[in-house]
Amino acid sequence: MSDNVRDTVILGTGCAGLTAAIYAARANLKPLVIEGHEPGGQLSITTLVENFPGWPDGIQGPQLIENMKQQAARFGAEFRMGHVSAADLSKHPLEIKVGSETIRTRTLIIASGASARWLGLPSEQALIGHGVSSCATCDGFFFSGKEIAVVGGGDSAMEEALFLTRFATKVNLLHRREQFRASKIMLERAMAHPQIAFRPNTVVEEVLGVEQKEVLGLRLRDTVTREESVLPVSGLFLGIGHIPNAGMFDGQIDLDEDGYVKTRDNVFTRVPGVFACGDVQDRRYRQAVTAAGTGCMAALEVEKYLEEHGR
Ligand code: NAP
Repeated sequence: MSDNVRDTVILGTGCAGLTAAIYAARANLKPLVIEGHEPGGQLSITTLVENFPGWPDGIQGPQLIENMKQQAARFGAEFRMGHVSAADLSKHPLEIKVGSETIRTRTLIIASGASARWLGLPSEQALIGHGVSSCATCDGFFFSGKEIAVVGGGDSAMEEALFLTRFATKVNLLHRREQFRASKIMLERAMAHPQIAFRPNTVVEEVLGVEQKEVLGLRLRDTVTREESVLPVSGLFLGIGHIPNAGMFDGQIDLDEDGYVKTRDNVFTRVPGVFACGDVQDRRYRQAVTAAGTGCMAALEVEKYLEEHGR
């Protein structure tokens, strides 16, 4: 094979992609790591990470990502900013189009993550990391003894609300409709909880506190009566779903009905030499440490694949 064919390309610089990069680089595979439009993934938009093993006092999400990046670079990983616009996984070497460049590679690790869905309000965007969060397990602890709100009507929202009752004095569950998507068991559990107050038919129109750089409350609207009200809360959690970043591979590897990459044996896609890890294939755990775990698996499988198929 010609020299311009890579041994492995890794898409994504979140926890999964960077862990894969550390392993692949230490195996001397000189991985090319493509950094997309959300470099560092979801950890880069969180604050203190207290549940990543090895940091007894916690570590800031962006610092954890930076450390992993430096660790991968030290062993020879190469980083490039870019957006994958197309890919041809039917060819071997595989072809990936990044900007105007076509990159050829023997293996590919898809670690492009899932982006949290946001409401899209300017005030919400301005207060991410200052009281607005999409990750209860990451940030719930900071709301000990406070009143907060969770938006959503699916299982994620119920799960977040239930989890947050460990810290918050009261959790207001705001949902835009009367009917809930959540499974019966999760819905019943949340409804029965004395610290969770359900407010159906309610939308958030504005998060208050942009000037003060902290959430001071929410301006709400009742979708039936059209009445406006203010809910004084210190935190807003979004539980309105995630969007996996795998659309560019649709039709070439298997995606489930919500667009997550379907894998077998943790990281194998149906295309030989193409592996997926982290949140792009995990709708269940979505933790930094589980993403790191599957990133490691993907890199080890790449090594094995290259040993079996030749470099
Ligand atoms: P989901 O089922 O798609 O629910 C998203 C919720 O957010 C819906 O209630 C939706 O409202 C609401 N929503 C979406 N966009 C909104 C917007 N712009 N403004 C206000 N509300 C908005 O997503 P999910 O809860 O993340 O669950 C995804 C999948 O993972 C499901 O299959 C779920 O069962 C699974 N899951 C399971 C567990 C568990 O079993 N422990 C935990 C988490 C997730 P509408 O209903 O009006 O569309």
